[in-house]
Amino acid sequence: MNPERILVAAESVGLGRNALQRASRYAKERIVFDRPIGMNQGAQHPLAECWMHLEAANLMAMKAATLYDQQQPCGAESNAAKYLAAEAGYKAAETAMLTLGGFGYAKEFHIERLLREVMLFRIAPVSGQLVKCFIGEKVLGLPKSY
Ligand SMILES: Cc1cc2nc3c(=O)[nH]c(=O)nc-3n(C[C@H](O)[C@H](O)[C@H](O)COP(=O)(O)OP(=O)(O)OC[C@H]3O[C@@H](n4cnc5c(N)ncnc54)[C@H](O)[C@@H]3O)c2cc1C
Repeated sequence: MNPERILVAAESVGLGRNALQRASRYAKERIVFDRPIGMNQGAQHPLAECWMHLEAANLMAMKAATLYDQQQPCGAESNAAKYLAAEAGYKAAETAMLTLGGFGYAKEFHIERLLREVMLFRIAPVSGQLVKCFIGEKVLGLPKSY
């Protein structure tokens, strides 16, 4: 199960990065009121936040993968990577959708597909709630809650 969680984390980061690239390109090209929308901090900062969250999640995925390759325990890191990456990937796709506005729904921009695909990883192969149960019980030593 751990390699699956690491794989899903990597997929989520990739989906998020792709959405972020598309949104950044669009924000540079789309002119509203004589300036690219990406010149506005209100459009730029959410994209910058997404980059930071994606890169942090990717580091956790790399840590989990390194532990797995070294045949060391990696349950906490694998679950954390899957959770953080799915949340970061979803946020990036959602932010991309909002950056494109109505065109986010147009199939040729691929954002609606990325949002739909990354949403899956908030549910499968394990829900965010179950990841938190695992961290609470196995890492923090709290009573089993389910
Ligand atoms: C496209 C797809 C492919 C899949 N492929 C496979 C596969 O190949 N093999 C396989 O074994 N499974 C597969 N699954 C199943 C997947 O692993 C489960 O959907 C996933 O683990 C969530 O379980 P569940 O659907 O039973 O949801 P549930 O556990 O019933 O959760 C339902 C809702 O309740 C929430 N929830 C659950 N527990 C709590 C709690 N304690 N507190 C608060 N909220 C909670 C969840 O977040 C969710 O929103 C696939 C699912 C999908 C969508």
